[in-house]
Amino acid sequence: MKPNYQFKKPAFFIVLLSTLSIVKGQEKGDPKLTEVWEPEPKVVTPGVNNDPPSDAIVLFDGSSLKDWKGKDGKAPWVLEGGAMTVKPQTGAIQTKRAFGDVQLHIEWRTPAKIEGEGQGRGNSGIFLQGLYEVQVLDSYENRTYANGQAGSIYKQHIPLANACRPPGEWQTYDIIYQAPLFKSDGSLGRPARVTVIHNGVLIQNSVELEGPSLYIGRPKYKAHAEKLPLVLQDHNNPVSYRNIWIREL
Ligand code: MG
Repeated sequence: MKPNYQFKKPAFFIVLLSTLSIVKGQEKGDPKLTEVWEPEPKVVTPGVNNDPPSDAIVLFDGSSLKDWKGKDGKAPWVLEGGAMTVKPQTGAIQTKRAFGDVQLHIEWRTPAKIEGEGQGRGNSGIFLQGLYEVQVLDSYENRTYANGQAGSIYKQHIPLANACRPPGEWQTYDIIYQAPLFKSDGSLGRPARVTVIHNGVLIQNSVELEGPSLYIGRPKYKAHAEKLPLVLQDHNNPVSYRNIWIREL
């Protein structure tokens, strides 16, 4: 015990002295020198219970599909009960507007009646800029490859957790997306990044994308426009969506 005490004693005084000098340093100088007043953040009124904040663009409020289109014009999915549901075989739908960096809130529900397994159960997907997929899948007691389960960045990043609710229940994704940047010669300047919060659980923490989501093979970036539409996938399962809003960053 004794040698230990003797060792600690000088260390205590060093800590005490350095603490005193920090306090002394803070007494000098002007605290105003480190205050930054501009730009003043704009006022955004937050929503209640996942309602859109005041500056959000509402993409779907349950009343119409007017902000979406399908491959032949009008969005062919089913509008019912404040939700829109994939009409299998009619194809993906996309927003009429194009987006770059965004914060996206979207709610989804896989069918209550369990059909299929693995990738065939409640499969859909949210394609950021129509290219980069955040997987939507019924991953509640339904094993598949980890980089293809709900909340994966399809075939690129395994989610940090499986936060899936049972089929038939509504689930939320809050997604923060940074679009890739391309140089004038078409080469990659900055890769895309995605953060995903699933039902309040962080499952993708600012992961870097390797390129567009592919079913087969390794992804590779190809230069594209700064802003592109958001796409929801038709993967032959009647997955529903509601309360979709987006904030441009
Ligand atoms: Mg999918």
